[in-house]
Amino acid sequence: MCNYSERDRASMGERVALELDLVKGFRFFDPHIHMVSRTTDDYQAMADAGVVAVIEPAFWVGQPRTGIDTFRDYYSSLIGWERFRASQFGIRHFCTIGLNSREANNEALAEAVMELLPFFIYKEGVVGIGEIGFDDQTAAEEKYYRLQLELAKEAALPVQVHTPHRDKTKGTSRSMDIALEHGLDPGKVIIDHNTEETVKEVLDKGFWAAFTIYPFTKMGNERMVEIVKQYGPERILVNSAADWGISDPLAVPKTAALMVKSGISKEVIEQVCFKNAVAAFGQSGQLDESMLAEHIVIDQGQKFEGNSILRGGQQPRRDAGSIIIS
Ligand SMILES: [Zn+2]
Repeated sequence: MCNYSERDRASMGERVALELDLVKGFRFFDPHIHMVSRTTDDYQAMADAGVVAVIEPAFWVGQPRTGIDTFRDYYSSLIGWERFRASQFGIRHFCTIGLNSREANNEALAEAVMELLPFFIYKEGVVGIGEIGFDDQTAAEEKYYRLQLELAKEAALPVQVHTPHRDKTKGTSRSMDIALEHGLDPGKVIIDHNTEETVKEVLDKGFWAAFTIYPFTKMGNERMVEIVKQYGPERILVNSAADWGISDPLAVPKTAALMVKSGISKEVIEQVCFKNAVAAFGQSGQLDESMLAEHIVIDQGQKFEGNSILRGGQQPRRDAGSIIIS
């Protein structure tokens, strides 16, 4: 835990800017962020800090959904409007689609969601089934986790696994054992929200180990630096998991800056903050390095189903090379 004084707070913006200077010219990929809960300022700040691509896993919206149509609309926004919104800031947006573990406990709804998933998982930009797994580690959670692993196998898609915050070590082992039991290739399964206690087992078993940088709690940035020093860059990914709670959409570039300060090489930083995400989720066939190397020409005059990100009288940003559609 860390509490900032008033004076610290005043200079914090300045210090962040100085830190991010250390990673100027780096490219970042945040493979777990819930942009639907974030603002356009966040998109702009992320683009300025070098974030060129994100993956938005389907998740819990903070309160229970009451009907299947809200799932349908939510999944549609992940492959539609949110993808468009990101593009307006030059960021490539991908997503994973799945039934989150908390809502697996509402079985009537869960059944309906299982019927809906095949209509979304084959859409453009969907790079996996996720985030799925355990929350309270109930029987219903296990049932729908298993069903979705089968779905991933059938669709030949990677899986993004949410591990529980309570009973983490047990829940993580169990998630991996079940995936292996269903015959999934551990090289196509990304185990998320790791800690110092879980990382060794995850890597030893051949899975990808993702780490979430929560501001001031859980995986602090310094702890992430130590993990990379200890385990090296193979199969390790860093993400922000930023959502509607207290979280930081710049967690990946900030952690990279701390790695620079700690003497970790640019090559290693690029691997854990960019390349590993491309390698892991590229197995979907939906993204690769050459695609990400192409610069997105921003044209904020564009619309998605008649809707634009601009408000009353704003001048759209139009980069050279964009075509003006009137
Ligand atoms: Zn999440």
